[in-house]
Formats: sequence, C-alpha cells, structure tokens
Amino acid sequence: MYDFLIIGAGLFGATFARLATDAGKKCLVIDKREHIAGNCFSRDIKGVDVHVYGPHIFHCNDDRIWSFVNRFATFNNFRNSPIAIHQGKAYSLPFNMYTFNQMWGVTKPEEALEKIESQRLVLDREPANLEEQALSLVGYDIYNTLIKDYTKKQWKKNPKELPASIIKRLPVRLTWDNNYFNDKYQGIPEKGYTAMFEEMLKGIEIRLNVDFFKNKEELTTMAERVVFTGKIDEYFDYQYGELEYRTLEFQSEIYDVENVQGNAVVNYSDADVPWTRIIEHKHFQPGNKAKKSYVTKEIPAEWKKDSTPYYPIGDEKNTDLFRKYKHLAESHDDVIFGGRLAEYKYYDMHQIIGSAMSIFNKKGI
Ligand code: UDP
Repeated sequence: MYDFLIIGAGLFGATFARLATDAGKKCLVIDKREHIAGNCFSRDIKGVDVHVYGPHIFHCNDDRIWSFVNRFATFNNFRNSPIAIHQGKAYSLPFNMYTFNQMWGVTKPEEALEKIESQRLVLDREPANLEEQALSLVGYDIYNTLIKDYTKKQWKKNPKELPASIIKRLPVRLTWDNNYFNDKYQGIPEKGYTAMFEEMLKGIEIRLNVDFFKNKEELTTMAERVVFTGKIDEYFDYQYGELEYRTLEFQSEIYDVENVQGNAVVNYSDADVPWTRIIEHKHFQPGNKAKKSYVTKEIPAEWKKDSTPYYPIGDEKNTDLFRKYKHLAESHDDVIFGGRLAEYKYYDMHQIIGSAMSIFNKKGI
C-alpha cells in the first residue's frame, strides 16, 4: 500500500513525490511515456543536450525554489537573449534599448520613451486582452513588427481574444539589457533536465509505460491518495466537453557544422514563415565543443484529442470550461490535481514547483 499514487513523472509529480518521500510517505510514480521528466525531458544527441519537447530555461526569484532545484542539479550560467527576425532584419528581445535602436534608430532612453509615448494605446482601464496590453506597453510599431503575427501563429487566435497575461511575461526595459528574464536566479542543469529528475526521484518507485486510464481500478486501490498531473478534462472523462491546448510539431536536423544560427533561440515574426522559432540546442550549454549542431524548428499545430498538450489556452471559452472542472475537482477530496495540465495554467517551471510545494503543505500530510 502506498500513501500516494502520483500520475505523471513531470515537474509537479516529481516535486510532490520528493516532498512526500522526504516527509516519510511512500510514493508510486507512474507515467504513460517511456521516460521521466515530462516535457522537460532532454537527451544527449551527438554531444548536445537536446530539449526534446521545446526549450526549457529555468528562472526564479524565490530562494526556496532555487535551493530546492539545486539539491538535484548544478545549473550553468545560461542567459536567454533571443532575437526575432522580421522581413530579414534581426531585433533583440525582450523589448529593450537594443530593440528600440533597431526599430527607430534611437540611442537614449528618453528618445525611446518619447517614441513609445507617441504611439502607445492610452486606456482609462486595465488592458482587456493581449492586443491592448501590447499596444499600451510598447505601441504600434513593435506590436505590428514583433508581436501581432507571431502571436497569431502561436495561438491561432486573434490577439484580441487572448488574455493580457500572456504578454506580461515579456519585460520592457529602457536599458541595454537583452536578458529575457528579470529573475535573480537563471540557468539550465549542466547535466540536462533528465539527470536532474533522476536525482529528484532517487529512491522512489517509478513505473513507466503505464497508462492510468487503462488500469484505473487496480492502481487507485494501491494508494491512500492520488496525485493527478494529467489533463483534468480527461480525468473526468470529458463530461463537460474538451479543453483546448496548443500543440507543437518539431522538425529537427543535425548539421555537420559547429554553429548554425549563433544563438539558442531565434524567433520568426513573419506571418508567412510557418515556425515560431528555431532552437539551436548546443547554445543552451555555454562552452559546448560538439562538432555538430542539433537544430529544431518549432511549428504550432492544430490541437487534436490525442496530440501532446503544450499550452493551455486562456481565452474565455476555455477558462469557463476549466472552472467547471475545477469545481468538480474540489468535490474529490482524495485526489490532488496539480501542474500545467491539471491546473490548466500557463505555468513556468518554477511556478509548478511553487504550486507543488504549496499544495503539498496544504494537503500532503
Ligand atoms: N511573443 C511575441 N513575439 C515574440 C515572442 C513572444 O509576440 O517574438 C508573445 C507571444 O504572444 C507569445 C508570448 O509573447 O505567446 C510569450 O512568449 P514566450 O516566448 O515567452 O513563451 P514560451 O513559448 O517560451 O512559453
């Protein structure tokens, strides 16, 4: 008999399993995939640590979360400084003095501010959607060049239908600073995410290639409580209908050269380029001397019921539907729901760890 049956060996499941095990509980972690680490999974290909399900850059401000992950991995000093290509011209991200210089030729913060002020959307209320949020932050030039078509491509929705919160992820600065994140702690595990998860799950029983829904009766009788980190609508057999996600298609290639694009992340903001970004994985490992390079194009794709879910969609329809499932989940005291899929939240990695810590503190003991 286990104290917890944890469904999903991704970040929520692994964090919860570690906390519970450290508190003397017995856990069984299952995953339908053949590997641990969920979408953080990475593996070595020709000397390069490949982020198999898209780029993962760890960042946080919270000392507790940072010391937690540092128990399991040593982090490198990678700083994310993506560039965005629009009509053959490169712009720096996030929006900072380099971007404003590339866009308008300005070299002083007050000149950049003047440009933004002259064209930003002024509202006497909070921005109600992504478009309003972007226009009120940076104005029309940057919105039309770097945000509008990228966002349509990524979400296949009009930016007016998307929540303002999506764009709040991107800093806007009047300094010459290309660091994508503001956080005080940033980096990537030196030995890759999979090795970090192996450490997190050390001494915990894991069963891979196990589909919870095909073995539900038997599995649930094996534990006092269940921690479910999969899709919440699937858990409840889609009884109110299906939640939508954005899924991705990855097209990868190994190049026989050391350096293909000179940066880990290059975004493509043109509507007629099918990919949102191209990832050159070796640049996530400063100092990597591999002779070849592994490069992945990330192409947003239509959601189908069996696709791999990546991004929950925060529009009104899905938010309302999720609320119904959440209400239902609240009446199931013996099941703990957590993570990007079960909480239907566009979480970053540190937020998932934070959520697992707080749910464990409330419900785990
Ligand atoms: N975004 C954009 N242009 C860019 C990069 C991002 O308009 O070049 C917007 C877009 O709406 C996207 C959001 O910012 O969905 C968040 O992007 P980010 O790259 O931070 O998210 P990720 O896909 O890495 O989770």
